[in-house]
Amino acid sequence: MFNDSDQVTSIADGWIARDEEVVWHGFTQMATYASNSPIIVERAEGRELIDVDGRRYLDAISSLWVTTLGHRVPELDAALRQQIDLVAHSTLLGNGNRTTIEFAEALAQVVPFEQPHFLFASDGAAAVEQALKIAFQFWTNQGITTRQSYLAFGGAYHGDTLGSLSVGAGGFGTEVFDPLRFRVLRAPSYEDPNCIEVACALIAEHAQELAAVIIEPLVQGAAGMQMRPAAEFAALGQACAEHDVLLICDEVATGFGRTGTMFASEQCGLRPDMMVIGKGITGGYLPLAATVANQRVYEAFLGEDLGERTLYHGHSYSGNPLAAAVGLAHLQLFDSLDVMSNVNQRAIQLQGLLQTHVEPLSVVQSIRQQGLMVGVELAPPEGAVRWGRKVTAESVNRGVLIRPLGDVMVLMPILTSTPEEITRMVLTLAASITAVAQAEQNRE
Ligand SMILES: *Cc1c(COP(=O)(O)O)cnc(C)c1O
Repeated sequence: MFNDSDQVTSIADGWIARDEEVVWHGFTQMATYASNSPIIVERAEGRELIDVDGRRYLDAISSLWVTTLGHRVPELDAALRQQIDLVAHSTLLGNGNRTTIEFAEALAQVVPFEQPHFLFASDGAAAVEQALKIAFQFWTNQGITTRQSYLAFGGAYHGDTLGSLSVGAGGFGTEVFDPLRFRVLRAPSYEDPNCIEVACALIAEHAQELAAVIIEPLVQGAAGMQMRPAAEFAALGQACAEHDVLLICDEVATGFGRTGTMFASEQCGLRPDMMVIGKGITGGYLPLAATVANQRVYEAFLGEDLGERTLYHGHSYSGNPLAAAVGLAHLQLFDSLDVMSNVNQRAIQLQGLLQTHVEPLSVVQSIRQQGLMVGVELAPPEGAVRWGRKVTAESVNRGVLIRPLGDVMVLMPILTSTPEEITRMVLTLAASITAVAQAEQNRE
């Protein structure tokens, strides 16, 4: 890539050039990828990522919301090595795997279900897709062919496959796919204080057409950390129960301790018919997700061998034993490290620090937080562009890795973060916002 005359200022520059040659990055404009100073990670320690030049970055977004206990957790590493000596993968289509069974049994102890059944997939979007198909066939298996629609919320994000994109509200430049999205009933977004009330009315009015309602309980993450108070959600659960519409809780972002309870549904007083889990399920180690179904949903699929009540859906790497082994060790660690108590203490600390150092900044419009899930919404002055991007660059230069959602700065600390790391994150964010606001002022 480089002529002898080219000045290579860092090892990273060479890697970035090789990277953009062959790797197509998701949600990334490749024409400008290199000029946005990406970091090229080589290894990690605890809550820090280390790039090819040996520079360290505090991982303040949990590697896009997946990392729970940190990087290179000795117990998780050991679980992975142990499983490798047994088998890396065997199919779940028609056969079983011992480690996957043990993992499902352990998961059954923590999900808010009485008799859960787990259909594994490899990504959140695929697990959402499974939930939508299960909801649809749940009704047709009972001879009901009128319930073919879904109710979803404005601002919703459920993943990027066509089905999950359809129940999602669009945005992020996905409008181009509108002709491919199936139609759904749409309640307002969480920004509207009446959204749940409206959703309940829609459920009552359209119950006979609805297969299911899909929600992100408590927090719409990708919408820029939009939140509703937990107490509002019980009414939605009641409306679904009253009108016999299935309730799907998408906990891909909120699951595994992120919002202060193991699952956000618990705080919301919801007992979903199905739940979708992903992201934190392996502590951020390996791609795994699952659709959780209750007994009633599961039973609607029981019937004759090769019969039409069967769910004809399954993925090649479903329930991968390496991922399951890590997931199992992860659940055990969650308990033994008392992760939830750290989440709740750090959440209180984080709230106080944000109030002191970030809220007073004139360009900060609002701060939204639930557990260790934070959105700081900026209000850039007229004509200012790409502020989220600029603040991110300032922060990365200061050794704290973040990634914004538009002009909403996201903090998603790893759940085991120390008090010092939380302080460093907030002070760095405050300094980065101040630097960008200052530069803007100087330009005027
Ligand atoms: C990230 C996310 C998904 C999609 O998960 P992938 O593993 O990225 O496919 C779905 N729903 C929610 C709420 C998410 O945050």
